[in-house]
This record gives sequence, C-alpha cells and structure tokens, in this order.
Amino acid sequence: MQEQLIRWFVKDYDCIKAPAVRTRYGNLTSIVGIVTNLIISLGELIVGFLIGSIAMISDAIHDLADAGGSTISLVSFRFSAKKADQEHPYGHGRIEYLLSIGFSILLFVVAIQLLIESVGRILHPEIVEFSIWALVVMLCAMGLKVWLYSFFKSIGERINSPILKANGLEYLSDVWATLGITLGLVVGGLFQIPVDGYLGAIVSVMIGRAGYHVLADAISRLLGNEPSPEMVKDIANFVKSYPGVLGIHDLMIHDYGPGHVFASIHVEVDAKEDVIKSHSLIDRIERDAQKELYIQLTIHMDPLLVTKESMALYDKIHTVVKAYDEKLSLHDLRAVKSDDKIHVLFDLVVPYSDRQRMDDIAKAIKKILEAMDPTFEITITAEHSYTGDENIHDYN
Ligand SMILES: [Zn+2]
Ligand SMILES: [Zn+2]
Repeated sequence: MQEQLIRWFVKDYDCIKAPAVRTRYGNLTSIVGIVTNLIISLGELIVGFLIGSIAMISDAIHDLADAGGSTISLVSFRFSAKKADQEHPYGHGRIEYLLSIGFSILLFVVAIQLLIESVGRILHPEIVEFSIWALVVMLCAMGLKVWLYSFFKSIGERINSPILKANGLEYLSDVWATLGITLGLVVGGLFQIPVDGYLGAIVSVMIGRAGYHVLADAISRLLGNEPSPEMVKDIANFVKSYPGVLGIHDLMIHDYGPGHVFASIHVEVDAKEDVIKSHSLIDRIERDAQKELYIQLTIHMDPLLVTKESMALYDKIHTVVKAYDEKLSLHDLRAVKSDDKIHVLFDLVVPYSDRQRMDDIAKAIKKILEAMDPTFEITITAEHSYTGDENIHDYN
C-alpha cells in the first residue's frame, strides 16, 4: 500500500535529492497523517460522547491536535510558495511560525478545558460502562497509528529526513497513550472502577505539553535559531568545490522558509589573481548557489597572500591558537610590516561556551605570540560563529 501511494502521488519518486520531489514526499506524508488522524479522532469522539468518557474524548482531541499541526505545515508551505511582494521582499515563509503560535494557544485552551472537566469527574466519580464499540474503535486507532509510524519511518529513511522519522516516533508514543486509555476503559468498565477522570487528566496534560513544544519551536525559529548542520555543510562544500576558492569563513544564514534562504560567506582567493577574474568566479558561485541550492548567496572576497612567508606565518599562528584550545579557529590573517615591527591582525572564532572568557582568550593568545616573536604586534578580533559551535571546524 505504501509503495502504491508513493507511485500515485509522488511524481519522479526516484529523484529523492531534488527539492521538488522531497516536497512531494513531505506533502504525501502530511496528508496521509492528517486523514488518518481525522478518521481516528472522529471515531473516538463519536464513541467517547456516546459512552460519556472524558478520557476517550481527550484522546480524540490529542489526535486532532496532531492533524492540526500537520495541516499548518502543509498550509504554510503553500503560503511560503507564494512569491515575495513589495511589502514582503523576503517571502512569506515565516507565516508558519505565526500560525503555529496561534495553534499552540488553541491547544493550551483546549487542554485546560479538558483538565477542568477531568478534575470535575475525579471529584464526582462516574463509572463509564464497558462498551465493545469503544474497544473496537480504540484497537483500530492503535492499528492505524502503528501503520502511520511504519509509513513515516520508511519514507523518512528513503529520503533521509530526520523530521519525518521523528514524526513517526511521535505516532508510536501516541499508541502507548491510546493503549493506556483502552486498558483503563476495559478494566474500569468491567470492575466498576472510576478511572475516567484520571485518564482524561493525563491526556489533557499531554495536549498541553504538545502545545508547549509547538510554541517553543515556533518562538525559537522566529528569534532566528542556529541553522541546521546539513545546510551549513551543503553550503560550505558547495562553495569549496570551486577551484580558486582557497578557504571560507564567516558563513551567515538567514532562513525565511524554503526558497527564501539568504546567506553570506567570506571566500579567500589568491591575492595575486586578477581582480576581475576573481570577481567573475565569485559571481558564478553566487549564481550557481541560487540555481542548485535555492539560496541567495552573497560572497565577500578576501585576498589571501599565497607566499612561503605568509603561509609560514599562518602555520605559526594556527599552531599556537590550536595548542591554546582545539575549539578555536582563525581567519582573515593579515600582516603589515613597518620599520622594525610586523603588525599581525586576525579574527579569532570563539565558541559560545567560552563567551565569558572571549576577551581573556584573545589577550592570552596575543601575549603568547608577542613573547614568541618580539617583532610581532598582534591585533585580535574575537567573534562567535553564526552557524553553531560544532560547525566551526567543519569548513575551516
Ligand atoms: Zn573574511
Ligand atoms: Zn559582483
């Protein structure tokens, strides 16, 4: 059935690297997830109301919440596909975060409502009679969720998408919640134990927790979070693949949603190369990045002196910096000679974990270098990376 769905709905399903095909896979999983969750939650809602079980109604709402989340990503994908306009030259990709915030507020309201109902039922216990229909619906719900899990997992593995695999795991954890409620309904109904309120309370807390995750994620993205390591690696490897690019640093990524990613990077080129020639190389990389990575890349050109002398100087300083702390890196090294001094300037990238000691580290390294060679006059500009600490050495 999975293969059949893929064949029907994913055009060019073999080109799993093409963004358009990945989008189609993403759309397919979203729609399958939404439809399945709607079916499950409709069944649970109807039977839940018929037998008067708050726990079952809560579980239905929990599944509705899942469907709602997928609907938002799907809808906002349409929004972000909408072209940039005069008022919003960066596109409309970030609308997803606003929708998510609204959705999380809705989840909080529903969770509180259900919690109040559940507490009311705990205070005034009522026995929910055993119903074979409830059992059938819950068993179907569990079966469908396990199927969803395997569906998301297999597509996640096929197109190598961590998000899809994570979503699949979420469905699996939902199965446990549904199983718990089913057991509660059966045991409570058969042995006349009033467990409904407690089960409802647990599920309403789960709904609130889901809302919190949606909210936290949306706010973090709105603030501008660390880019994904895959994107950093993609851009770095892409730029480095051009002959004539001697080194790169200071990558900065602004993500306004798919197709609206803006980035800037410094590229080191041979200082002795003709400026016009170097600039055409830079321009070509920028154009190719637009076509192949769908990223608007702006490149700043750093001339690099490739002489024995300058390489030796770089090696010397690089060794000292790395010996001081393996996590540090440097770039934009320049040396200006005056009468009896060599003025050496460079930028030092310090991980965020050493935020407090940033200036001390720069001072210490300056001291070591100046002690090593009395003709040195060192100026260090300490800075953080915009691509996350663990990515600093990846492309230096
Ligand atoms: Zn630079
Ligand atoms: Zn240009």
